Amino acid sequence: MLRFDIITIFPDYFRLIFDYGIVRRARAGSLIEINTHDLRGWTQNRHRTVDDRPFGGGDGMILKPEPVFAAVEDLTGARQRSELKNETRVVLLSPQGCVFDQKLAAELSEAEQIVLICGRYEGVDERVAERLTTDEISIGDYVLSGGEAAAAILVDAIVRLVPGALGSETSAINESFSEGLLDYPHYTRPPDFRGSRVPDILLGGNHAEVAQWRRRAALRKTKRNRPDLLERIVLSETEKAWLDEEGIGDES
Ligand code: SAM
Repeated sequence: MLRFDIITIFPDYFRLIFDYGIVRRARAGSLIEINTHDLRGWTQNRHRTVDDRPFGGGDGMILKPEPVFAAVEDLTGARQRSELKNETRVVLLSPQGCVFDQKLAAELSEAEQIVLICGRYEGVDERVAERLTTDEISIGDYVLSGGEAAAAILVDAIVRLVPGALGSETSAINESFSEGLLDYPHYTRPPDFRGSRVPDILLGGNHAEVAQWRRRAALRKTKRNRPDLLERIVLSETEKAWLDEEGIGDES
């Protein structure tokens, strides 16, 4: 079972967020366990202070190292990174981290324990990243007020990749990024909505034609929205020719 331990000063933030859909089902089926922990539980002072002013001056407050190290030690048994078990990942959510993607989600889904440290204010004392964490992860090139939303996103993306979490094992295989492309467009009834028709091939029932249409549509959508992804995958000659023929933005 994969166990998540989330360290935060706002544990209530997570009260409902893991009670829906696939994450809820994975918890109910004991595929995963999610525990949230109040960082203030590891403070030693009467006011349960977790932050302090930055050395060198400047705005804002910094989360202190002592409660974060104490929390991780209690949750993993390790005082620092070098003592962690191979199957344990300790992740600091940070805009300075490497950007989270499907490949990293797949790697993390193989862990036995993932500790997620949510920063607040101006961030977390750098000794946490230097000595304690296995990963420093950002969810994108923008700054959030805290790591909680980022932690929830990591949990969701990772849980989908835990074997048995999705109804059908093929669902994750066909999704965006799994083969380096975006997903193909999906349609359901009605076949004609306000004059906009579902492509005829999808209504015809010829599986080979449908598969080819989907591959080509996935390539078209990737070229339009994420051309950077196309530079990282190997395409067949036919696929290259399709892309050359495609007018960007023409979805029909
Ligand atoms: N001073 C920091 C900087 O400029 O890099 C920003 C600190 S931010 C206001 C407070 C906390 O939010 C961070 O410590 C981190 O835990 C979280 N956070 C903000 N943006 C994030 C992102 N893009 N990905 C992951 N966590 C983020």
